[in-house]
Amino acid sequence: MRILVIEDELKVARFLKKGLEAEGYEVETAGDGKSGEKLARTEAFDLILLDVLLPKKDGFEILRDLRKDEIRIPILMLTARSTTEDIVGGLDQGADDYLTKPFAFTELLARIRSLMRRGTVKTKLKYQDLLLDTIAHKASRCGKPIELTAREYALLEYLMRNRGKLVSRQELSKEIWGYNFDPGTNVVDVYVNHLRNKIDSDFTVKLLQTERGKGYYLSEKKMTFKPAKGTATGKFA
Ligand code: CA
Repeated sequence: MRILVIEDELKVARFLKKGLEAEGYEVETAGDGKSGEKLARTEAFDLILLDVLLPKKDGFEILRDLRKDEIRIPILMLTARSTTEDIVGGLDQGADDYLTKPFAFTELLARIRSLMRRGTVKTKLKYQDLLLDTIAHKASRCGKPIELTAREYALLEYLMRNRGKLVSRQELSKEIWGYNFDPGTNVVDVYVNHLRNKIDSDFTVKLLQTERGKGYYLSEKKMTFKPAKGTATGKFA
């Protein structure tokens, strides 16, 4: 499960990132309103922790603009202003919950779990008949459990979040292994092949596709990708 933390106080942001990662969540942070909103619009998150007082664009404006554009990612507001007016205003504009600073980390975790129980935060990713539980890190296809290693799971979750999009070996190397792509090894291809055997070999419809020499993508049929400047496809040379 991926959480975006939009918070300008570096100490708080670091503390939240470290604590949430220790609980098994994936965390991205943004230190101002503009870059935070951009991340919220361009990447896939399951939950946003949104501070109110932020440089460049405040939390309420971000909330309002995301909801105006029908972006329904669950949002938990972190507010230093404890006045009822602010809180009611935030909930009216489409926030799912709020916490008044300073708060106990255990309380934050409890609020997140409560949003998950209410179904506000989706903990399942689905593509065709393939299902991922992003909390338990388990996969199944047509209801049949698929045993995956931690790397294979991470690879599959990344491909599912980017379904229909061509993902280069470079990108996978950086996102899953955390290092720059080494053209001299085929570690990415080896893992993708293991994953493909596990999710596709028993099924007629193949989901994990290869774009020769460029990368991989999740789709129930072959797609065509035009190389474009500045895209993952274009950068791969
Ligand atoms: Ca702040």
